[in-house]
Amino acid sequence: MKFMIDSHAHLDDEKFNYDRENIIKELKENQVAYVINPGADLESSKRAIELSKEYDFIFPAVGVHPHDAQSFSEEIYNEIKNMAIKDKAVAIGEIGLDYYYDNSPRDKQKEVFKKQLELARELNLPVIIHTRDAYGDTFDILNEFKGEVIGVMHCYSGSLEMAERYMSLGYYISFAGPVTFKNAKNVKETAENIPMDRLLIETDSPYLTPTPNRGKRNEPKYVKYVAETIAELKDVPVSDVIEASRENARNLFKLEGVSFED
Ligand SMILES: [Zn+2]
Repeated sequence: MKFMIDSHAHLDDEKFNYDRENIIKELKENQVAYVINPGADLESSKRAIELSKEYDFIFPAVGVHPHDAQSFSEEIYNEIKNMAIKDKAVAIGEIGLDYYYDNSPRDKQKEVFKKQLELARELNLPVIIHTRDAYGDTFDILNEFKGEVIGVMHCYSGSLEMAERYMSLGYYISFAGPVTFKNAKNVKETAENIPMDRLLIETDSPYLTPTPNRGKRNEPKYVKYVAETIAELKDVPVSDVIEASRENARNLFKLEGVSFED
C-alpha cells in the first residue's frame, strides 16, 4: 500500500495521552506519511502546534470549533492569529456550524465562523469546515467568501447535491469512518460520485472509527479503511485514491517538503 496523508486527526486529544508517542512513531510503518492536526479551541490549537514542532510530519491547523463559539473572545482571536502566523499553521480549523448539538447559540456560532473566515482570507490560509445539520447556513456563509477562501468539508456526510455546491466554491470533500459503515447509503453514494481531484481522506481520530474497528479508539492508521472503501465504491485501484487524496491535501494545505517513499 502507498503512503497516505490523514488529513484530519486530533493526535493532541487526551485519549492519546497514554500512548501518543507510540502511535506517532508507528505511523510510518502503517503507511501514514503525514497528518494534519486541527485545533478545536485555543488549548488544542496550542497542542497541535507543539506536536508539529516535535514531529515534522505533523502539520497543525488552529481555530475554534462551533461547540466553543460561546467562549470566543478578542483575546483568543489574537492568540489564534499569532499562532497561525508565527507557528506556520497550514489552515484555520476546525471551524463551522453545528446545529445538531447547539452547544453555542447559533448567532454566536455564525459570528465566530465569519470572524475566522475573515482571518483565513487575511492570512491567505485554507479552512477546515465542520458542519452538522447546518448545510444551508454553512453554504451561505462560505459563499460570502467565494473566490477568496477555499478549504475542505471535513468528515462530509451530506448529499451529493450539497457537495456539488461546495465544490463549486472550490472546496474539497473529505471522507472519514462513516463512509465505511454498512448502513451509510447516502455517504457512500456521495463518495462514489466525488471527482478524484476533489477528494480527501481522514480519520477524525480518536472519533468515528471505521469498520472493521468500530467501537475501538480511532487512529490515523485506520485511514486505509476509508481509502479502501472509496476505491471499492468508485471501482478503481486503492492506489489511485491514495495518490489523488494526498496530492489534493498537498495542494490545498500548500504542504512544504512533502515527499513519499512508495
Ligand atoms: Zn475533527
